[in-house]
Amino acid sequence: MVNMRVLVTGGSGLVGKAIQEFVEYQPSDEETWIFLSSKDADLLDANATKKIFDEHQPTHVIHLAAMVGGLFRNLKYNADFLRNNLLINDNVLKCSKEAGVVKVVSCLSTCIFPDKTTYPIDETMVHNGPPHPSNKGYSYAKRMLDVMNQCYHDQYGLRYTSVIPTNVFGPHDNFSIEDGHVLPGLIHKAYLAKRDAVSLTVWGSGSPRRQFIYSRDLAKLIVWVLKNYSDIDPIILSVDESAEVSIKEAAEMVVKAAGFTGPVEYDTSKADGQYKKTASNAKLRKLLPDFVFTPMQQAVDETVKWFADNYDVARK
Ligand code: NDP
Repeated sequence: MVNMRVLVTGGSGLVGKAIQEFVEYQPSDEETWIFLSSKDADLLDANATKKIFDEHQPTHVIHLAAMVGGLFRNLKYNADFLRNNLLINDNVLKCSKEAGVVKVVSCLSTCIFPDKTTYPIDETMVHNGPPHPSNKGYSYAKRMLDVMNQCYHDQYGLRYTSVIPTNVFGPHDNFSIEDGHVLPGLIHKAYLAKRDAVSLTVWGSGSPRRQFIYSRDLAKLIVWVLKNYSDIDPIILSVDESAEVSIKEAAEMVVKAAGFTGPVEYDTSKADGQYKKTASNAKLRKLLPDFVFTPMQQAVDETVKWFADNYDVARK
């Protein structure tokens, strides 16, 4: 593949920063990478989106920009999650088509799958029933990306596709306790609990189970999808099913990484969310059997260290 100009929307976020780090580590004369933040263009705005596409003339797009948040933010803002993500996705795909972009890789998520389902979840089940009510706005907007990819293929012959990551974490995450995802929230809480010598309170019972993927592993896989995966149908990017952990186990890893020795409590008055969403990575494993994921404790150690080193500037 020669002279790719890759525009990465959401380039300033958790996943975008990891991709930037990865491609800058192995620069190529045949690739130009442009990483956008919302300051470069508000993708909710159709004119601003068109302007940024006109300016950069991309041949490829990795579309990460989205309104993103954890369980508690989703519960509060379902309508905003639906509308903002629908608008951003419509603007980005329409401008990609008009700019002659040959490939777009967009991001879905395992939290958009049906609430009532059989396990493990696979790529064929995205539309098989209503999502968990807590994040219905985000879920339906993300599901429409897959529908758009299918329709753009049917009508225009375009090969736009999507990836489905499980819970992502790593440097540059949003470490907000109120609005962020569970793991970065725990990392922030453990940092404060250690600093202030108080107990660490985990929200919920600790029993829900999740597959966590390190942003640096996900970055490598998304770049691989951009260059090597040619289906329209989505592909799940996840650690193996055997690597699923409970929130309690994840909290223990954070405690270990942070060197926190005080008491850990579970606030069961807080919602647990969906009990599990175990996803199958069989499709990925068939195509990339030898991919080695970073061991979770190592990835947690690196993220905890990054947060402590960057406490003043980290999103929180
Ligand atoms: P972040 O919240 O870290 O980053 C979101 C990015 O989107 C930022 O670069 C942000 O720009 C940009 N953005 C948000 N709104 C707009 C807007 N109106 N116009 C332009 N840019 C905007 O997200 P992640 O990196 O965690 O997520 C990347 C993708 O992966 C998303 O599509 C998400 O749905 C998906 N995903 C994430 C998971 C996770 O656990 N984090 C799990 C599964 C999927 P700025 O920084 O300037 O505001």
